[in-house]
Amino acid sequence: MPEQVAQIEATLQAFATACNYANSVVKSQTTSKTTIQNLVYQELRSLFGLSANLAVRACARVGANRKTAKLQGKPVKAFKPTSADYDARIFAFREKDCTVSLTLMNGRYHIKMNLGQYQTGKLKGKKPTSAQLCKHRDGSYYIHIQVKDTPPDPIKSNQVIGVDIGRTDIAVTSEGEKWSGKQITSVRDRYSRTRASLQSKATKGTRSTRRRCRQILQRLSGNERRFQTHQNHVISKTIINQALASNAMVAIEDLTGIRDRTNQMPRSKTERRRSNSWAFYQLRQFLEYKGLGAGVGVIAINPRYTSQTCHKCLHIHPIRGESYRKGKGFKCGHCGWHGDADLNGAMMIKLLGSSVNRPEGSKLFCSLRAVESPYHSCTQLGGG
Ligand SMILES: [Zn+2]
Repeated sequence: MPEQVAQIEATLQAFATACNYANSVVKSQTTSKTTIQNLVYQELRSLFGLSANLAVRACARVGANRKTAKLQGKPVKAFKPTSADYDARIFAFREKDCTVSLTLMNGRYHIKMNLGQYQTGKLKGKKPTSAQLCKHRDGSYYIHIQVKDTPPDPIKSNQVIGVDIGRTDIAVTSEGEKWSGKQITSVRDRYSRTRASLQSKATKGTRSTRRRCRQILQRLSGNERRFQTHQNHVISKTIINQALASNAMVAIEDLTGIRDRTNQMPRSKTERRRSNSWAFYQLRQFLEYKGLGAGVGVIAINPRYTSQTCHKCLHIHPIRGESYRKGKGFKCGHCGWHGDADLNGAMMIKLLGSSVNRPEGSKLFCSLRAVESPYHSCTQLGGG
């Protein structure tokens, strides 16, 4: 219906303009949606005519996009009039006649949906509370409705799979499964060679060649990111399925806030790369939310010592001093165990993960502490 189309268009337009406005007036470090809302809510309503909750959603969108951009180390892109967010106050789904009601610029509208069998099945009996109104490239409008399934209760188990992320390989599990960085590195190298050649063409050449090269460069960076995201999906899915099959929990290192905590301590280049890279951050996030969906508990353990400690005898090798690392290998100077360094890391994470689960704690703490200075508190290990 033409009136509905005009209303939808006007809403998308106002939503994007409001986002762009908020993004330009609120100082760029601010990522909290509440802070953004406190600063510009009134203006968004009066300047762009947004309803109360659309204005709230716009603030939240700006905050969320800023957080993502920060992680990827890129500036926030301009907001286009192609989508707007809806919550329970401004959106409702009615199953009996297959409609959604949406607050648009001029009030509330009931809009008929064109649902397939799959969507009808997914929405059956559900009361969704959030959605996105979208305009696709072909010019048609879509509503993306988020359906929440109640996640199953996480399995209580003493079994733990330890996962070491992003040292020399992308991920290694304590069960010996490994995703090497080789394929990714080779794809990266290929992209970077192409990029170098395009970059030189983008500075020389005619005007149109230069523009074309810039466009290809932009697409390349997207391809590379999508490739890595796909890899992370595959890896996290495999690990969660394994945990599910063996009735185990998954333990990973807690690297949040590592920047502040460990800045005083000497850190290798690898460690810095691991805590700053969005790809590794994403893999941890995927593990967490896939775990949640499948009912697999995912626990985070303190990353201190995991790479220095021998999982066999629990001897901690000082970072500087004994040489226990050689390339990808680990050789314990105490008991003589030797093998893959990442596998040793994963085994340590598994050990720490299992000890976190035990109510009485574990003897592990004391063995580790005995080697360290007596002033270290027990809680530093395995906490988190
Ligand atoms: Zn040892």
